[in-house]
Amino acid sequence: MNCEKCEKDANLLVILPLHRPDGCLNTIACLECAKKSGVYCLKHKKPHLGFDDGTTVCIYCIEAEVEQHRVELTDLVNTEIFSQIDEASIERYYAWLADVNVKVGEINKTAGIRAIVTLALRRRVEPKAVIEAIKNEGLDIILPPQYRLDPS
Ligand SMILES: [Zn+2]
Ligand SMILES: [Zn+2]
Repeated sequence: MNCEKCEKDANLLVILPLHRPDGCLNTIACLECAKKSGVYCLKHKKPHLGFDDGTTVCIYCIEAEVEQHRVELTDLVNTEIFSQIDEASIERYYAWLADVNVKVGEINKTAGIRAIVTLALRRRVEPKAVIEAIKNEGLDIILPPQYRLDPS
């Protein structure tokens, strides 16, 4: 099969979350093109996961960042966000957290931290910048659409 970027025949092809002009959401590329694409993690040697808005992130980087920032972010969520955000938002946040915890059997707040880290990596900013963004734009920016006040 040929690489859809350089059109060379390659033994190893990876699926990249790059939208094609024909509307297809993925591009099949050789390793050389993948490495240059910006949507392939060089550290973990894996293609990124793509989102509807075109942003991408390496899921292995998410988990590494969650571990690295867990204590700091848990603290910031408690002190910076829960003290400032309206109660209705916090209720939606906990409704989502409860659903996630049932699904993955996780009885803690990791999903919230993971959502912050994921958005930080998608926006290519520090997790702390997402805390600031939540303070300005509301908690809904880290919630899946169906848990937002305005699900559209
Ligand atoms: Zn190629
Ligand atoms: Zn990675």
